Amino acid sequence: MNDIILLKMGEIVLKGLNKKKFEQRLLSNVKRRLQAYGRFHVYAVQSTVYIEPEGDCDMDGAFEAMQKVFGVASLSRAAACEKDPDAIARRAIAYLRDDMETVASFKVESKRSDKRFPMNSIELSRYVGGLLSEAYPDVRVDVHEPELTVHLEVRDFAAYVHAAPVKGAGGMPVGSNGTAVTLLSGGIDSPVSSWMTCRRGIHLIPVHFFSFPYTSEAAKEKVVELVRLLTPWCGRLTLEVVPFTHIQEEIRDKCPEEFFTVIMRRFMMRIAEKIARYNGAAALVTGENVGQVASQTMEAMAVTEAVCTLPVLRPLVCMDKQDIIELARKIGTFDTSILPYEDCCTVFTPRHPKTKPHLAEVEAVEAALDVETLVQEAFDGIERIRVELS
Ligand code: ATP
Ligand code: MG
Repeated sequence: MNDIILLKMGEIVLKGLNKKKFEQRLLSNVKRRLQAYGRFHVYAVQSTVYIEPEGDCDMDGAFEAMQKVFGVASLSRAAACEKDPDAIARRAIAYLRDDMETVASFKVESKRSDKRFPMNSIELSRYVGGLLSEAYPDVRVDVHEPELTVHLEVRDFAAYVHAAPVKGAGGMPVGSNGTAVTLLSGGIDSPVSSWMTCRRGIHLIPVHFFSFPYTSEAAKEKVVELVRLLTPWCGRLTLEVVPFTHIQEEIRDKCPEEFFTVIMRRFMMRIAEKIARYNGAAALVTGENVGQVASQTMEAMAVTEAVCTLPVLRPLVCMDKQDIIELARKIGTFDTSILPYEDCCTVFTPRHPKTKPHLAEVEAVEAALDVETLVQEAFDGIERIRVELS
């Protein structure tokens, strides 16, 4: 008999009529992520996803991968045993040793889908609880606020004892809330804003603006690596690399220096929106954060987003840098983000950028550029890099 993995669904449970759709999405995401770890039978019953190995599987690897699936509130491993009260108790005593030795109180909760089992749920809980108490006399039974809840389940072919659950990735299943284009630089912030958006169930199209030869091939590789680090959470992604050099040179040659950054960012938004429309995406995402740099004042954001009609999501807008860094470490992108490669934003940085630009003056300055042609040219030159699940 094989051990299994159980996933408790998160907010999907609240979804009412749409619940089936969300559940289906979660199941297909789970199945795809499990492919690397063996063959599994995956199904959902009562807001729980059951993952049963079929033959030889890497259960440790699978359990770790499942901690990165959005839409899962908590998850646990469960040990299988014969459908017999004494066998269940023996299994619980042995399997839960580490948990039982670290808590002061526990209770047992049982579920029984096989109604032919000789005890009802309450009787089984009492019986196994009694034997656990004998085996671990220092741990008291507390049915109201136990430190550990021991779950038992009697199902069709076996009974299961669950270990203590660990926290899941939370959020909603990727793809259940549409698609957005995320502007991904090589910095600390945008991988985090991408991750947060994806956690809400939004499928991502990452876009990077690349200014070769001002920014190097290594800077592009760094962004590809960041995308790869996001795939265990976000699934397979296709990075769109937009050639940005000509646009930046045009701005440098034809606009006053203090407007460089805001005009450059307006081009990014226009191109990102074009990519979004082309792919049926419903929003743009950036890693902007109020007050962080000159281009991230509320006034600059207003002038920047004036060129697009899709909503601009800024998940980090009011977060402290330290909290963003902590999140970057947690999701695993921080170490790559701090590699010292240049970003196109730092190529022609003005010495004194305008912190409170006015839309009218920016539009007047921009009139020196053939905006439409430049946008189209960049769009036509996009390189697409498919990044598989890793
Ligand atoms: P990050 O750490 O994400 O680079 P930042 O604090 O350095 O953010 P900026 O460089 O001003 O901020 O960029 C603000 C946002 O604009 C970024 O978070 C990102 O969403 C987007 N952006 C900046 N440069 C690029 C780029 N080369 N390609 C794609 N998006 C970019
Ligand atoms: Mg940056």
